[in-house]
Amino acid sequence: MAVKPYDPENIFAKILRGDIPCSKVFEDDHVLAFNDIAPQAPTHVLVIPKGPYTSYDDFATHASDAEIIAYTRAIGKISAAAGVNEDGYRLIANTREHGRQDVPHLHVHILGGEKLPLMLP
Ligand code: ADP
Repeated sequence: MAVKPYDPENIFAKILRGDIPCSKVFEDDHVLAFNDIAPQAPTHVLVIPKGPYTSYDDFATHASDAEIIAYTRAIGKISAAAGVNEDGYRLIANTREHGRQDVPHLHVHILGGEKLPLMLP
């Protein structure tokens, strides 16, 4: 099955454009992070690149080194700022249909703040 092109009407593209609000926890030139609207754990933050990347593989293939470094470092900074580093947390990047990705703009979920169930959210 062909991978779909980036859809600029996806909900995270609208958040990036400021068309709909979010509960922002971090922003720099390349990255935006905000609280998930339906949290699955006491800490549930979504971290997205500002560029139009549908999923992790698209980002890893097409993003610049600067974007990849900024994104990777931001996830570390946001986890530390959220206070979940000491006890640990989970990173998830659901990818397309089999990964049950609903929003087709790359996002890493940071989940923590309690001992998480073995089942993935
Ligand atoms: P899934 O819904 O299966 O976890 P995704 O990995 O695509 O699929 O996750 C999309 C996430 O985006 C969900 O956790 C959902 O609660 C969250 N979400 C959807 N709309 C918003 C929004 N407007 N603001 C913040 N989070 C949102």
